[in-house]
Amino acid sequence: MNLTHPYLDPDGDKLREECGVFGVIGSTEAAAITALGLHALQHRGQEACGIVSGDGRDFFARRGLGHVAQVFSDQQLLAELPGHMASGHVRYSTTGGQGLRNVQPLHADLARGGFSIAHNGNISNAGQLRRQLVEKGAIFQSSSDTEVIIHLIATSRYPTLLDRFVDALRMVEGAYSLICMTPKRMIACRDPLGIRPLVMGRLGPKDNGAVVFASETVALDVVGATFEREIEPGEVVEVRQDGRMSSHRPFGVHGPRPCIFEHVYFSRPDSLFAGRSVYEARKAIGAQLALECPTDADLVVPVPDSGVPAAIGYSQQSGVPFELGIIRSHYVGRTFIQPSDGARHSGVKRKHNANRALVEGKRIVLIDDSIVRGTTSMKIVEMMRDAGAREVHFRVASPPTAHSCFYGVDTPERSKLLAARMDLEPMREFIKADSLAFISINGLYRAVDGIERDAAAPRFCDACFTGDYPTSLTDLAERTQSEAQLSFDKVA
Ligand code: SF4
Repeated sequence: MNLTHPYLDPDGDKLREECGVFGVIGSTEAAAITALGLHALQHRGQEACGIVSGDGRDFFARRGLGHVAQVFSDQQLLAELPGHMASGHVRYSTTGGQGLRNVQPLHADLARGGFSIAHNGNISNAGQLRRQLVEKGAIFQSSSDTEVIIHLIATSRYPTLLDRFVDALRMVEGAYSLICMTPKRMIACRDPLGIRPLVMGRLGPKDNGAVVFASETVALDVVGATFEREIEPGEVVEVRQDGRMSSHRPFGVHGPRPCIFEHVYFSRPDSLFAGRSVYEARKAIGAQLALECPTDADLVVPVPDSGVPAAIGYSQQSGVPFELGIIRSHYVGRTFIQPSDGARHSGVKRKHNANRALVEGKRIVLIDDSIVRGTTSMKIVEMMRDAGAREVHFRVASPPTAHSCFYGVDTPERSKLLAARMDLEPMREFIKADSLAFISINGLYRAVDGIERDAAAPRFCDACFTGDYPTSLTDLAERTQSEAQLSFDKVA
């Protein structure tokens, strides 16, 4: 979570991220379990990570730049994080603000004791709140929007910490899945629309039935916890040291709007999201894509890895054989989150290679999860032609990404989104495919939820496709009125 989104950062510093959070309370191995959980969430953020543990009195913190396996490779590090509870965070960022001061969980000593916070999402009025707090004398230690919540809690006049926490969250807009710790308890909370995911599980008797929170169910699986349920949108769950748990709904009832892109791309396919297997949802998206956008081709080839389940669905629906016509190296990061166009081009070459023996002379239908800037897609089409493909057709398992995300996901500013700049045929020409087609927004809804999108009450956040942002975007409205108007006007 960072204030350095191009629309939010007063200095124009570009730093965008998607994140993962994990927490456990009630286990003597809390920090080690958290490191394992973060490792399972590594796909949500690869540039930095941190763990804060608590022993009922003090907090202990370790944060670092790099992957979880690098930062927490040393057993001694985990010995330095004692206590029965711990929370952790994996973070993605691009340039600027990459220093340790922005690595979460953040923690502070408040009037009522220590407080730590790990945040997945983005607060879309953080700039405004920050200015107000600074005018009142607050001194910020980071450029993170998450720190705004700490200052709002510190200055709240309510008597209990839970009341102060809720009071602070009533002032923020946007997306937040939070795992917080006080010396004696863990608090997990999801924003009123449930934009970002958060689930709860429980470890077995060997770990005293410790309660676990995580961004995705895959982290529960990996640490051996049983999935109990999602944290409901707007729910605040408080777990005390002795295991007693209470649930609060302080924000009223709203129609949930979980991020539909979790199904398309972000979540691991072995996770459950919004009550559904992500893998099954991706296969259904592929099948729907085949119905909507059929192709006369010899092979269905996924752009690995996130395009694989959709390509299986496309193949099964269409009867066109599925083959691994592109082989992916697993030793480079995802190109969606590379820091510059130049680096992105080299990233494509390092990451994907055509399986020439398979594709030579064939008509290929490529299946990818999305097109963002289009540069990766163009390189992949070129790679298939270089490998001798006779025809290259491109099918996309999401509608055109024409709007930026302001809820904690790394999408470029609108001017760099291919679908914001071009209609379908110019996009096809840009990526140099023989044909190009995207799944419709109604088709996407049908695939993941069984019924079409209700424009009056959409069941997901789909703003990057429709421009229909489910919350106010105060900072954006303040800074770029014209851009904001464009976004709100273009509702599919
Ligand atoms: Fe997800 Fe797109 Fe909404 Fe962002 S704008 S939360 S990526 S659906």
